[in-house]
Amino acid sequence: MPNPITTTLSAKLSELLGFSPAAPLRRWAPGQPLVDGKVLVLGSGAGPDADADAIAALLSGSPAEPSATPDASGDEVLDGWGLDVYRHPVPDERYAAVVVVLTEVDHPGDLHAPLLAAASTVKKLARGGRVVTISRSAADASPAVAAARQGIDAVVRSIAKESRGGTTANGIVLADGVPVTAASAVGALRFLLSTRSAFVHGQLLPVDTTAGALPTDWDAPLDGRVAVVTGAARGIGAAIARTLARDGATVVAVDVPAAGEQLTAVANGIRGTALQLDITSPDAGAAILEHALTRHGRLDVVVHNAGITRDKLFANMTDAQWDAVIAVNIAAQLAINEALLTSGDFTDAPRIVSISSTTGLAGNRGQTNYAATKGGVIGMVRATAPLLEPFGGTANAVAPGFIETEMTAKMPALPRQVARQMNSLQQGGQPVDVAEAVAFLSSPQAGGIVGRTLRVCGQHVVGA
Ligand code: NAD
Repeated sequence: MPNPITTTLSAKLSELLGFSPAAPLRRWAPGQPLVDGKVLVLGSGAGPDADADAIAALLSGSPAEPSATPDASGDEVLDGWGLDVYRHPVPDERYAAVVVVLTEVDHPGDLHAPLLAAASTVKKLARGGRVVTISRSAADASPAVAAARQGIDAVVRSIAKESRGGTTANGIVLADGVPVTAASAVGALRFLLSTRSAFVHGQLLPVDTTAGALPTDWDAPLDGRVAVVTGAARGIGAAIARTLARDGATVVAVDVPAAGEQLTAVANGIRGTALQLDITSPDAGAAILEHALTRHGRLDVVVHNAGITRDKLFANMTDAQWDAVIAVNIAAQLAINEALLTSGDFTDAPRIVSISSTTGLAGNRGQTNYAATKGGVIGMVRATAPLLEPFGGTANAVAPGFIETEMTAKMPALPRQVARQMNSLQQGGQPVDVAEAVAFLSSPQAGGIVGRTLRVCGQHVVGA
């Protein structure tokens, strides 16, 4: 709950610093429509537009029994989302979302028709509107194809930097051989179109494989799954625990004994269980597994969220400050993963989601110890994902930018206010924004996203 005194102070500070007020972001709530208005679907233009047609059919089709069922030809038929879809821009029309399917571009010259058709609609997007591109990876492509595909990446980031009114622009990048109707392409599209991705902006989300499955119920994709969340007593961890429970999971909330009272309150609030545990203890992995199996019969999702900071300029860094951060933020995660992977009890399309940080991507003054661990998380999930792939599992990371929590509330007022403004949405994110990304990556529909890091930062200005 935002504190009215600090909110007023922040507004005053923003005014003094000459920052324009940020547009309020809409967050997801049960019963909310997937997209609140008209959706424009544009294709690559020249030649057959098979992929754009398939996306338009998915978005506009009638919602039948929610599941993916093969038709008589054996092809997958996706149940439609019942949206109000248009295939050509109508002058002066206001759209809630524009989806630009660019999978068929072969040369930078092919970008003109679909992108300029989208351009005129972008400035009239409804508040909180969405721009989503779907394109293919530039890796291993010929020079002209790679130029066109890589160009899309920078176009999306540029549109994001120009957007206003809480509108977001993001892209889905499919590996070669992954159809636009693959489970994770469809899952990513739904996530990016919805208000669940309110603080995801200027991001390109790769879909690597056709693995994954569409949920039987989009509002409860984690039904029947058991998830462990570390650092769940407060902040981002508490939001993750609540969001996974909202999406149907049974949650084991883990935190240090000193946070026991808050931890119990979080666990009780979501009908989960609490496990008081310091994740740096040598038997933490075994303790987590034992608790999940004895209390809930299985373990499917592990969210490594617990983290600490001990900020100091590199020149003044002490052994204790360095070691404490390494122990909690990365060494504990490696040890817990090792215990789970060798147990034989973490094999039913398991999910590991680890919380990194934009500091792990771009570095940050006064945070070399923290950067080592948050960059470490990115490397860890990339290397762990192949170990989980044989049983349909994934490991991915979420890299938050500035999020309003007790951790960031400790920052001095001026740097805190500047940090809030250092992204294209010109505000701090909420813990639930990180939680929504974690819930998506924990879901069955994200099975084709492997070893990746998704930023939840409002397109934070990192110095990369
Ligand atoms: P927070 O300090 O509010 O909460 C962290 C929780 O982890 C606390 O409940 C704490 O008790 C728990 N914890 C710490 N050490 C533990 C241990 N050894 N064993 C078990 N639990 C332990 O932090 P937050 O802001 O909610 O951050 C959560 C995660 O998100 C952290 O990994 C943090 O680095 C990351 N992150 C936060 C931000 C931000 O802006 N808040 C930005 C980027 C990344």
